[in-house]
Amino acid sequence: MRKVLIIEDEESITEFLELELKHEGFDVTVIHDGRDGLEAALIHHFDLILLDLMLPHLNGIEVCRRIRVAKETPIIMLTARDSVMDRVMGLDVGADDYMSKPFSIEELLARMRVIFRRNERHEEDIVKYLKFKEIEVDTISRTVLKGNEEVPLTKREYELLLMFLQNVNRVLPRELILEKIWGYETEVETNVVDVYVRYLRNKINIDDDNYIHSVRGVGYVMK
Ligand code: CA
Repeated sequence: MRKVLIIEDEESITEFLELELKHEGFDVTVIHDGRDGLEAALIHHFDLILLDLMLPHLNGIEVCRRIRVAKETPIIMLTARDSVMDRVMGLDVGADDYMSKPFSIEELLARMRVIFRRNERHEEDIVKYLKFKEIEVDTISRTVLKGNEEVPLTKREYELLLMFLQNVNRVLPRELILEKIWGYETEVETNVVDVYVRYLRNKINIDDDNYIHSVRGVGYVMK
């Protein structure tokens, strides 16, 4: 569920937005003050922020500027005045888009979809293709190749391999692997990591060339 933070002091607008966005399936947080909104944006993860320009304690331009110093969270500015200056300032301090009030919910949702699509493509570009020695992974088709031969992996094995490929030469503690791959499933114990690393090794190792090495008492490293 995508998380949206609304920083806006006009309650008629926040009530309307909250209702509509929840109806669209978003997880919505509303804050009516610039300073508190900034704090929430910095501490918590949000997929998008709707940020009003005129706010108590800290204006939207300043909130946006300070968020950008630390984070890339997409921001749509909500400007009451149809002023070119406000829009330019908003975009200058790093807002992704702006809406002039009053706006239709359909138009806002359309703009949000554009931003989400843009970010998804961006994420895909980064991890589309991973390679280490003879192992190649295409993350779009989820295909794993060893040399020119396709290696069938289970979902967990695939996720585990991806984690190693994204952290080559970095020692990954068992607990971290467990948390990332298995989440917080309470029944699972850390030795499940050893079992799956063994499965994965059997599938991807070439002859005696070990790709995944044990680090005694800690976990594993791909190198
Ligand atoms: Ca306002």
